[in-house]
Parts: sequence; C-alpha cells; structure tokens
Amino acid sequence: MKYISTRGRAPELSFEEAMLTGLARDGGLYLPAEIPVLSQDEIAALAGLPYEEIAFRVMWPYVSGSFAGDEFKAIIARAYAGFGHDARAPLKQLNENHFLLELFHGPTLAFKDFAMQLIGQLFQVALKRRGERVTIVGATSGDTGSAAIEAFRGLDAVDVFILFPHGRVSEVQRRQMTTPADSNVHALAVDGDFDDCQAAVKDMFNDFDFRDGVKLAGVNSINFARVLAQVVYYFSAATSLGAPHRKVSFTVPTGNFGDIFAGYIAKRMGLPIDRLVVATNQNDILHRCLSGQGYFKGDTIPSISPSMDIQVSSNFERALYYAYGEDGRAVAQLMDELKQGGFHVSQGAMEALRESFASGRVSEEETLATIKSTLEHSAELVCPHTAVGIKVAEDTRAADVPMVTLATAHPAKFPAAVEQASGVHPPLPSRMSDLYERPERVTRIANDLGAIEDHIKRHIAE
Ligand SMILES: *Cc1c(COP(=O)(O)O)cnc(C)c1O
Repeated sequence: MKYISTRGRAPELSFEEAMLTGLARDGGLYLPAEIPVLSQDEIAALAGLPYEEIAFRVMWPYVSGSFAGDEFKAIIARAYAGFGHDARAPLKQLNENHFLLELFHGPTLAFKDFAMQLIGQLFQVALKRRGERVTIVGATSGDTGSAAIEAFRGLDAVDVFILFPHGRVSEVQRRQMTTPADSNVHALAVDGDFDDCQAAVKDMFNDFDFRDGVKLAGVNSINFARVLAQVVYYFSAATSLGAPHRKVSFTVPTGNFGDIFAGYIAKRMGLPIDRLVVATNQNDILHRCLSGQGYFKGDTIPSISPSMDIQVSSNFERALYYAYGEDGRAVAQLMDELKQGGFHVSQGAMEALRESFASGRVSEEETLATIKSTLEHSAELVCPHTAVGIKVAEDTRAADVPMVTLATAHPAKFPAAVEQASGVHPPLPSRMSDLYERPERVTRIANDLGAIEDHIKRHIAE
C-alpha cells in the first residue's frame, strides 16, 4: 500500500515511512492511495473475536508491505497488554438501542491510548530494524502527552519530550506525565499556555539544524498510523451489535476530527455505518461548517471538555480531500484560505460531507445536565466529553438503528466537572489508585525556544 498526501505534491511513501514522517512535505496529511474493502463475509467473521485478532484483520491490508504478519501480531499483543479490561473496548447499554463504547481502559484512561500504545510499538520495531533513534517532541493540553509518555516509556529507540503549560493541566493529567520513572521520557512544564507550547514545537520542526540534529519525529493526531488504530473499534463494536447484517450509527465527541475520521474509513471499508455524528462543545467550528456556514476560525473558549477545545480540526483536511473528489490542488487552496481565516465549502463537497457526517453542538449547562441524568437513568458516571456525545446522540438518533456513543475518557480524569454535575467524586481505577503518592519528575522551563532546545539536546541518550 502506498500513501499519498491530501495536497498532492509530496512523494508517495510506504506505511512505515508515512508513520515516521507524520506531516507530508507539502504540508498535507498522508492517506492510503486506496481504501481496502472487506467483504461482508470477512466482516461477519469478526464478530466475537478477541480485540487483538480484529485489530490484526482490519489493519493488515494497510501495513502488510512494512511489517511481517507474525511481527505485526506481536506488536498488537504488546500494545494492548496493559489495558485494564479484557475486552479492551467494551460496550455498555445506556437505554433502548443506545450504547456506550468504553475507550478508557488503557493506561492513561483516554481513547488516545489505543493509537499511542500501538504507535509506540510500531516505532520501536521499525527504528530497531533501521538502526535509528528518534526524538519525539509534542505539546499537550493533557491527554495526548500522557498517552505518549506512557506509550514510549522504556523503549530504547526513542526519547520523548512533552511540553505542557505549567499550572494549566489537571492534577491527574500532570501526574500521569511526571510519575513514569523511565529515563527516556521527559515532562517539561513551560511557563506559558498551550498555544505557546504548540508554537515552540512548531518552531523546533522549522529549525532544520535542530530538527536534523536530534532526528525530530511527531506523533500528533495527524499521523495516519494513529487514525488506523482507531478504525478497529468501530468494527469490534458494530459486529457485536449485528453488523454486517444490521446497520449501526456512531456519535463521536470531536476535537481534531481524528477519531470520527477513523469511523469514516471503517465505513469506506464496508462496515454498514448508518450515521456518523460529530459532537462538539461550544467550540463548534465543525458543527457550523456542517450546518452550511463555512469553515471559519473563531477564538477558543475554555470548556469543561478541554480535549475538544480547538479552533481548527487538523484531520478535517482528510474529509475535505474525499469530499472534493481526491483533488489535492483544491485542498491546498482551501488550506491557504484557512490561513487568512477560513473558507466556504463548494456545494458539491458540502453534499458529500453531509452524506457522511451529521453534527450537533452542546452547551456547558447541557453537558453538566447530561452527566447528572446519565447517572440517574443508566447508573453510569461519564466524563464531560462523553456527555457531549450522549446529548447529541439522544437528540439525533433514529429509533430503529442502534446508536453507539464513544466514551472517550474515564470520569476520574476530569473529577472536578464530574463532581460538580453529579455530586459524586469519580474514583481512579484500583490499578492506579496510588497515582497521588508516586514521586514526580518534571522540569520547569521558560517559554523560550533556545532554552527548550538546549534542554532537549542535553537530555537525549547517546
Ligand atoms: C482527544 C480527545 C477528544 C477529541 O478527539 P479527536 O480525535 O481530536 O476528535 C475527545 N475526548 C477526549 C477525552 C480526548 O482526549
């Protein structure tokens, strides 16, 4: 399988090269040149299989040129061994025909573990074979950084540096980044906000001396390997609810559009998904766009579902690529307009987008009310992101098609909002109940590119 850029002007790469590269050289995002389709029989055969086996069968056509079959099986086994639930992604019923897909049983209690744990093992095997080391640098508002540190800790082909805004992540998120003792992972508390952290990372990638000197690599959500890992749980959920003999819909709490785009790929692979519903909080650029108002940046308003507080959804570029009939030039033009503030979507592309995606927006009050009512009616304590999904799902779902809402984080990761809404303090799962006692290791650092680069150079292993 070859991988091509959404902007049509970057070299075609193998899966392994696209994974190690991240962002394409023309600024675009990598996609498979063709989306493989599974037959109805192949999909039916997935029902009831262990999660790891479904993962292998769904992802194999994408990676087969880069990894051997047994090697890939072993990678998948290592990726999910640390999950706290044998089903990995269990389904829970909320009410008639509405289900929660629990994606928070990984080591950092958010769905990002599904992709990050896999990508950590894929990087390690690929780099070992090449005899290379890389330095991964990322900025985080919380969930991505902890998932990356947990995924790469102890892997000897990689050093990881995560920049987070000092004093502006939750205590659980901070401790998940600062308590792993492995010498190859480094948490940096930057005296600035999340945008400063992101800008510093971007500047490091544009500083070619530094970039080449430390062999910088990225694992943010535009990496296609991350999207691919997330395709798997759409198959596991839908087949356990009767697909391919029955249609299933999904509602996805959405920020960067990575998770829901994985659902789109699953549908194109032949999974009978009826509707894919984008659920946003008050930062609703996607909902406005899908409602026909164009794609225009606003100001990010902090919310109680912070992992969805975005101005621009990077992975939406991939959906636009298909909506514009795989026309890289048209996508490049839109992305230029986005730099000036935004763009209108053509009528044909809008129809294509609406055929694939529905959407809804949820206020802060509605989010709190949904946490409360879900506990009262279904005895489930849910995180604020999941509550956004549940509300949109209830507002939009059809009575006769099962709806699956993705539960993207464990409530204990966002205890303040959950307690405010429900009066119940969500406890951490027992396997990490000593998180508050573990010693922390963190470097506080000025919001200064030179200081950050210097620190990284001095702390990578030889
Ligand atoms: C990252 C994240 C999201 C948003 O997912 P995208 O793939 O960026 O759309 C939603 N909920 C939680 C808890 C997250 O960590």
